[in-house]
Amino acid sequence: MGSGPSGFYAAEALLESEYTTEVDILERLPVPYGLVRHGVAPDHPRLKDVADTYAAIARHPRFSLMGNVSFGKDFTLQELADCYHAVIFATGAATDRKLGIPGEDIQGSHAATSFVGWYNGHPDYRDIEFDLSGESAVIIGQGNVAIDVCRILAKSTDELRKTDIATHALDALAESRIREIHLIGRRGPVQARFTTKELRELGQLSECDPFVDPDDLLLSETCKSELSDVREPARARNFEIFRGFAFRRQEKPKCCRIHFCLGPREARGGHRLEELVLERTRLVGAAGRQEAVGTGETVSIKAGLMIRSVGYSGLPLEGIPFDEKLGTVPNKDGRVAMALPNGFPVYVTGWIKRGPTGIIGTNRADSMATVATLLADLPSFGAQPKPGREALVSLLAQRSVQSVSFHDWETIDQAEKARGLPLGKPREKFTRISEMLAASSA
Ligand code: NAP
Repeated sequence: MGSGPSGFYAAEALLESEYTTEVDILERLPVPYGLVRHGVAPDHPRLKDVADTYAAIARHPRFSLMGNVSFGKDFTLQELADCYHAVIFATGAATDRKLGIPGEDIQGSHAATSFVGWYNGHPDYRDIEFDLSGESAVIIGQGNVAIDVCRILAKSTDELRKTDIATHALDALAESRIREIHLIGRRGPVQARFTTKELRELGQLSECDPFVDPDDLLLSETCKSELSDVREPARARNFEIFRGFAFRRQEKPKCCRIHFCLGPREARGGHRLEELVLERTRLVGAAGRQEAVGTGETVSIKAGLMIRSVGYSGLPLEGIPFDEKLGTVPNKDGRVAMALPNGFPVYVTGWIKRGPTGIIGTNRADSMATVATLLADLPSFGAQPKPGREALVSLLAQRSVQSVSFHDWETIDQAEKARGLPLGKPREKFTRISEMLAASSA
């Protein structure tokens, strides 16, 4: 269930096993590839090349894709159990974590999931309006999603025009008046979670200079010991980049101010966001486990747009146990401890299994591990044959659900590429489900 990286890697592991397993991937949207399509930033096209690997998996004779079908809406767990020997949920982490501060949902404050989905043409987010008319924006969080959001706000329209960014987003960004972007971390430069490549790229933008306050680079003894931890070499590499950002002169029209040790406390404004109040923090705890605690001193940053990029969370799945705090499905090596009356085996992989960490490739090993668990359980599945996709297809047809096959997706894919051609873009995505379905049967 779910056609993102972890779903496809699980399919690959099953198809390459010694068993002649039939594998169907069921996907809520009419288009596959999850975060590779709707999460990876449009200006990072190389990261999307992995979709070619997934397409090769999809062409395996024992594989099929059924898109535009929703678990819990179009079919139930019991119905899956009637059709298949086992299910692997690879549904990712589709929602945002909350900050839990007053004013969090004020107009002008958005989750990164919405902003990322919007510029990537995800149908769930395409109609959200982002007010880019103010000069200042704040981004909360210092992970790679925050840096993606920062780059998209900082780049010129000319830099984005030839990417697969959704046209509605490109048009809105062309009118953006944002000049100052604040990238805010509750902890220090040693604890920022950016990968080095992404951080370095921030220093190479044509329209935006990054800045760090040199005082923020004065480290405690505990931070120094974290910095020199050989198991975490990115920390020292990132720190060198921050040092370079501390002594830049502004030469470009936009700037990105990277702040450390500031915890968001309240988003304020009349009918919409006007300022964000933050509390200075200090770090306490042992090396590697330092936490930010408030000092009582507050500062405020004026901003008309706030993007909260503090991590993703999974969504509960009907009939499946769920850990609300972690946003994941409790599991042991991918196996979910639960019981349908007939003992249908349920597994998880990817972000719904381990939480929202790691890069695309991390999911390959994770899915291989889940599939190894599933294959070890095979003797307990019983010898009773199951009708598989034929039965699900006819159930969906009775419910008038128009499912999308991998061949249909290839038709959509070609249409998107053809739409992109005159614009010099790799593709012009369809951003509405109705458009996708119309293109699939064209
Ligand atoms: P992330 O790396 O976990 O970063 C989350 C950030 O939010 C951290 O700086 C965290 O600070 C902060 N945060 C959490 N709760 C907070 C709070 N209450 N107040 C203030 N700050 C808070 O998550 P992400 O950026 O969403 O990325 C998810 C995963 O996708 C990561 O593994 C990332 O590397 C990956 N990704 C990779 C790429 C790429 O390879 N190009 C692109 C995008 C995403 P603390 O550290 O203090 O908790």
